Amino acid sequence: MKFFFPDSQDLVDPTFDFRTERRSAHRVRHRDDLYAHEVFQERVCDGLLVSKGIVDGLSGGAGKYSMAQRHRLLRVGAEDFFRLNRPGRPSLVTMGDCGAFTYVREHVPPYSVAEVLQFYTDCDFDLGISVDHVILDYQPRWDGDGPEGVPASTRERQEITLELAWEFWRDCKVSRLRITPVGVAQGWSPKSYAHSVTQLEKIGYRYIAVGGMVPLRTRDILAILSGIHDVRSPETQLHLLGITRTEVLDEFERLGAVSFDSTSPLRQAFKDDKNNYYSPVGAYTAIRVPQVEGNPVLQKRIQSGAVNQQQARRLELRCLELLAKFDTGDADLETVLQALDEYEAVHSPEKSFSATNRETLQTRPWKDCPCTICRSLGIQVVLFRGAERNRRRGFHNLYVFYQQLQGDGTGARQARSVPSGAIVLSQ
Ligand SMILES: [Zn+2]
Repeated sequence: MKFFFPDSQDLVDPTFDFRTERRSAHRVRHRDDLYAHEVFQERVCDGLLVSKGIVDGLSGGAGKYSMAQRHRLLRVGAEDFFRLNRPGRPSLVTMGDCGAFTYVREHVPPYSVAEVLQFYTDCDFDLGISVDHVILDYQPRWDGDGPEGVPASTRERQEITLELAWEFWRDCKVSRLRITPVGVAQGWSPKSYAHSVTQLEKIGYRYIAVGGMVPLRTRDILAILSGIHDVRSPETQLHLLGITRTEVLDEFERLGAVSFDSTSPLRQAFKDDKNNYYSPVGAYTAIRVPQVEGNPVLQKRIQSGAVNQQQARRLELRCLELLAKFDTGDADLETVLQALDEYEAVHSPEKSFSATNRETLQTRPWKDCPCTICRSLGIQVVLFRGAERNRRRGFHNLYVFYQQLQGDGTGARQARSVPSGAIVLSQ
């Protein structure tokens, strides 16, 4: 299974000093910053998925690209913009899509096929996903009801997606574009998804992305893929949009999936309540040491008089100092845990991470990780604090995730322990 990493302009600043928490004054954003695929010598994904919705800053993608970055991407193309063509680096495939989840609430997609093709051609992607419209209802019982049982607005979304797929295919062929067109199947049940795939095959598609499955339970996804498997032609290959269910990847593969994309490894590093740091034997919870200055909850408590600012700052600095000492063997576990508890009572009195702090510090999983991030950062990688640490932990997760994906055969896959499925949001 090939893994595509969805871009949302996640870069780290190599000039960031973890001791002083300052950046070099000469650093130029984006130019000097590094993508995950630039941080590691090893491959951490097979390709990048770039969404028009995110590049354009539609709702959900707002603020990722500056105007200047957007213009540059369109002017120089994805290979140059993402610096994919550097010697000695693994080559990556680029796939463009519309980011249908960013406009899921609209009646019709906000983009025409011509606009999307222009975007794909400007970016010079290898693969391009046709314009689609996500169906949010999943009702397998409608399979027994006949077409009149399905709401007109739901059917319409499938019809729109198929019409646009036809137009997209025709325009790619007429203009003899270099891009490989990828159709999108949307549906509300196994049979309706299967119907989409049959129609897309009739148009000519042999690479089909299955969309709208992100919120579904794993067994529903398997039912859809089985439904598709019953009708699809053997040479048709499937891409799973936004899906990571590592425990069933082999099953997905058996049902025709050749690729998938997911932001989970990155996002779990700082969006999940528990599974923040991946390791080959399971995920660990990162150690919360929020910045007094940058934490809105803590700032509110300071302003209300519940917390003394100087006191909070002292506790914060003491945690950082003790954690660094713990990493070099100069502070003992109980002292560090006690300092963390004291600071936690000030920044999040309603929560307790004592047990997970103990587990993470006792096990020291960063000591065993061979990745560049852990080797250079040490204990800093497990600190839940600021974008530079949190994102690097996300990159480390990508590394572990991809290594496990390459695991030798089914045994390794079944034993795979990185968390999957829905992210537990912490805010
Ligand atoms: Zn690592």
